[in-house]
Amino acid sequence: MLPGKAEKRIASSIFITLVPPRRDVATKEKTQREPQPDGAEVPGTHHPQILLSPPALPNGDICAFCHKVLGPQEPTVEAMRKQYHPDCFTCRTCHRLLAGQRYFQRDGCPMCDTCFQATLEKCAKCQGLITEHIIRALGKGYHPSCFSCAACSRAIGTESFAVDEQGDVYCVPDFYRKYAAVCSACERPIVPHEDEDTYKIECLGRSFHESCYRCESCRMPLSPELTENGCYPLDDHLLCKSCHVRWRNESSC
Ligand SMILES: [Zn+2]
Ligand SMILES: [Zn+2]
Ligand SMILES: [Zn+2]
Ligand SMILES: [Zn+2]
Ligand SMILES: [Zn+2]
Ligand SMILES: [Zn+2]
Repeated sequence: MLPGKAEKRIASSIFITLVPPRRDVATKEKTQREPQPDGAEVPGTHHPQILLSPPALPNGDICAFCHKVLGPQEPTVEAMRKQYHPDCFTCRTCHRLLAGQRYFQRDGCPMCDTCFQATLEKCAKCQGLITEHIIRALGKGYHPSCFSCAACSRAIGTESFAVDEQGDVYCVPDFYRKYAAVCSACERPIVPHEDEDTYKIECLGRSFHESCYRCESCRMPLSPELTENGCYPLDDHLLCKSCHVRWRNESSC
């Protein structure tokens, strides 16, 4: 199978607690009006007035869920850089209250621990839940440490990898060490180098490096195409056209 690239996903979790309102608490002010200096006031008839200062409502004191005003005396939940009524900060799946609870954020919505765990994927190798990073490869999810080379046990991460017929995953060097075809001329494995495409040439049921695919007699490189410069084999020998003709004439006399 061709080497593939693994894909990474990140899930994050945040812990919050119920916090008091961030704004200064608006207080009821008692103001005693002073007697007017112009003498219009009748002594002894001061009327204390209770003045309610208008509630301070700077922008942002709106519940991010119901979009209603957060009352000045109401407790407020601050989470995900927004503010909510405690009753509005709920798991979007099961509607359980989340104020003061551990919660997770999924697609910008709060979710309780239980519902979040239920959405988690299991690692295809160890069957454990994947709570943080996931390596997605071969249509399955893995813990980063579980997606590793069957030969050297190194975690593959986002590197290229290869899979054998049994479904075992290998780093690319180990895969070629184990499975690469061996060149019939130089007896070394045929392995790509530094992302260059390497062609394995098959001829007479044997494999060759491109550079090893030469006429056995005159060492001229042979073309893998079926052209004049291609291989004209004779009795299991790789030969160019002219050497083939020469060898055949020599053996027939
Ligand atoms: Zn609300
Ligand atoms: Zn829930
Ligand atoms: Zn695992
Ligand atoms: Zn390896
Ligand atoms: Zn070779
Ligand atoms: Zn030749």
